[in-house]
Amino acid sequence: MDDWKAKTKAVHGGVRRSQYGEVAEAIFLTQGFVYASPEQAEARFVECGPDEFIYARYGNPTVRMFEDRLAAIEGCEDGFGVASGMAAVNVTLMAVAKPGMRIVAARALFGSCLYILEWLANFGVEVVYVDGRAEAEWRAAITPGTDLVFVETISNPTLEVIDLAAVAGLAHVVGALMVVDNTFASPVGASAAAQGADVVIYSTTKHIDGGGRGLGGVVLGSAEFIRGTFEPYAKHTGAALSPFNAWMHLKALETLDLRVRAMAASAARIAAALDGHPKLARLVYPGLGSHPEHAVAARQMDHGGTMLALDLAGGKAAAFSFLNALHIPVISNNLGDAKSIVTHPATTTHQRLPDEQKKLLGITPGLVRFSVGLEDAGDLVADILAALE
Ligand SMILES: *Cc1c(COP(=O)(O)O)cnc(C)c1O
Repeated sequence: MDDWKAKTKAVHGGVRRSQYGEVAEAIFLTQGFVYASPEQAEARFVECGPDEFIYARYGNPTVRMFEDRLAAIEGCEDGFGVASGMAAVNVTLMAVAKPGMRIVAARALFGSCLYILEWLANFGVEVVYVDGRAEAEWRAAITPGTDLVFVETISNPTLEVIDLAAVAGLAHVVGALMVVDNTFASPVGASAAAQGADVVIYSTTKHIDGGGRGLGGVVLGSAEFIRGTFEPYAKHTGAALSPFNAWMHLKALETLDLRVRAMAASAARIAAALDGHPKLARLVYPGLGSHPEHAVAARQMDHGGTMLALDLAGGKAAAFSFLNALHIPVISNNLGDAKSIVTHPATTTHQRLPDEQKKLLGITPGLVRFSVGLEDAGDLVADILAALE
């Protein structure tokens, strides 16, 4: 299986068939597992083998299939499924946190990731923020004694792209752990592990579920990190992934490549149609040559992504009338869904940020985040152009 391409692994990776030989992966909706004898129970608590389970907070066969399949797609040795993307970030950071440790992070992060980093400061963790696009800032901040570097490959909502190989190179010189939240890029055509990430995190709620159904998260890395560092903390602290959600996300991995590529192709078509539009002060799409990190994006991913950011020249009023005039996309705050989703970050997901920080991050009153879905691209372009008028 190691030689297979990601698309093949996405269909066959991690399969564990029961004695019935079912074709579709089974859902094991069970909390616990029966032992044939007290001797067997004792042996399993001493050492739990790869096909043995104790309790669903520690592991479950359906969850295991999902973890193994995603680890195979990303090219990592192992993985651990958790209840949400934020559980994945929180448990990763808590599993390694120590008073006096130093974390260097990109400033442009998902709001809840920022919240966790700020929370860690209560326990004597030093967190230093840099402009993720500026290599000189990374170089200056990742000093000897830095323990961990945290980035999102493509930032939310302004779609800044981090040069993973460059930042991972700096992290590894000082022995820091490179942790990458790769949710916006998705594993399709963009392995963060291949770019040097030691730990890769996905909110599987997004592109991987792809249908807006259930929350999930996963942490991928070396067997040593997952089993030696992550699992001991995770299994005792209860952020376990529901087997039902693991099953939904496991099955959704089969179509992930098709879905993400179709969404990215539509996003590129929308970006081309909107480039230079007079109602827009700014159009951000990593697949456009005008994007400041276009070259980095093109090197790291074989598509331009599924997300666009449109900055309406008329500010908040123009952004709101645009959102109200659209007929196809729904107004919500998820992303990676089959349905196109539009978000006004300044008044929703990033509302709590002080104005000064919004300004620094480019979250202007006119900014609209657009998650491109699976609708017909021509319909989307027509809807957007009409709404802009
Ligand atoms: C949504 C998101 C998360 C959080 O995931 P949940 O599943 O909602 O907990 C973390 N990071 C990024 C980049 C996200 O987009």
